[in-house]
Amino acid sequence: MPGRLAVPVGGYGAADAMEARPAGTIVRRGDALAENVPQSLAMPLAPADGRVVGAARVLFTGDRTVPAVVIECNPSTEPAGAEKALAAGAISEMLPRVRAIDMSAAIDLLRSRGVWANRWTSPDLIAQLHATLRKPVDTVLCNVLDEDAALPLQTRIAGNYGVEVTAGVLALASLTKARRAWAAVAHSADPACWASLRRASAGTDLALLPLQNDYPRAHPTLLLELTDRALRPDRLPTEQNVLLLDAAAAAAVGRCFLSDEPMLAVSMAVRDRSRNKTHFLNVPIGTAFSDLLADLGVPADSIDLRAGNPLREQHVASAAVACGGELTLTLLTPAPAVNPDPCIRCAWCVEGCPVHIQPAGLLEAAQQEDPYLAHQYGLEACVECGICSFVCPSHLPLLAGIRTLRAMQRSAR
Ligand code: SF4
Ligand code: SF4
Repeated sequence: MPGRLAVPVGGYGAADAMEARPAGTIVRRGDALAENVPQSLAMPLAPADGRVVGAARVLFTGDRTVPAVVIECNPSTEPAGAEKALAAGAISEMLPRVRAIDMSAAIDLLRSRGVWANRWTSPDLIAQLHATLRKPVDTVLCNVLDEDAALPLQTRIAGNYGVEVTAGVLALASLTKARRAWAAVAHSADPACWASLRRASAGTDLALLPLQNDYPRAHPTLLLELTDRALRPDRLPTEQNVLLLDAAAAAAVGRCFLSDEPMLAVSMAVRDRSRNKTHFLNVPIGTAFSDLLADLGVPADSIDLRAGNPLREQHVASAAVACGGELTLTLLTPAPAVNPDPCIRCAWCVEGCPVHIQPAGLLEAAQQEDPYLAHQYGLEACVECGICSFVCPSHLPLLAGIRTLRAMQRSAR
């Protein structure tokens, strides 16, 4: 348990109305740390006993900052996140309780227990739940696919907490009245993952769907091919009548409905490439990645820290904190800058692109700052997987060009 935690508000929305509890307030593990948190966000909760020090803004992945409440932890607090796996019978006891509440009450419950997720493999959970109040969904889909085979976090969570994952999916299917509850699991997933999910889902409505997990299949846009429905990458799956969440989010939802457990910690996987080591950790929410790296004996100033699959080039500052955002980190030795060569029209980027658009054309559109050209070359379909940049023999900054175009689009709105 770090000495200090900067616990962010749960989600990426504007939280200007949030009032942090006053400095000096003594808090117990699980206490709310703020008031007036907007409906679109989850409550920041104290992951440990301690004392409120003040309010701050903290970084998530990329350059997004959100309000947070800083607490000084009591050194004798038990680390958050050492959850005990539950028995399968707990699900049949839970479901009648869930059927007795409606979706609005369920959203309030999840928010008050600090449950949220918003990452590449699991789009904004609270926004999706609110969306189901306006537009029904027919499918709840749990994404157990890992986006990087070297960091099998989702597989591991499903392997250790099959009951919680299954309970989360079935609870949401019951609340939304979805007729299908699915979990997409890689054919090649660890047998322990398959065994755990099979045991937990036996005799329930959860169907396990074996899939080939070729990168970047774990992205919701590509996963939604299961339903034959197309989804633009910047839209919520609920637009296509699907509520989609990953195994980590489903386990948090399941724990909340099974045993009223708040989300005070997240499971994370950290791959240290230079030492060829992978660490699986339960990390209290609000832990700075610099503290995490110090614990692992890695000097934060000498590495390139990336979230998710490193091909996505999602750079993370060591000042960012553990939360419901990205849960996998790769530590790389910073690479020397490379001068790109001209495009040789080899079309490798086109052949590698999973959504069949034209990355070289998008770079041209970025260089010409031409949104019409960007549209022509298929910008809207890009999932920012980074395959095009990775395969380009001329080392052209294709993904960087795509992100520039998207930033241009956002500022023009
Ligand atoms: S990042 Fe490149 S390869 Fe990936 S979807 Fe976008 S254009 Fe295609
Ligand atoms: S892979 Fe690189 S060099 Fe080849 S066509 Fe695409 S942008 Fe040009």
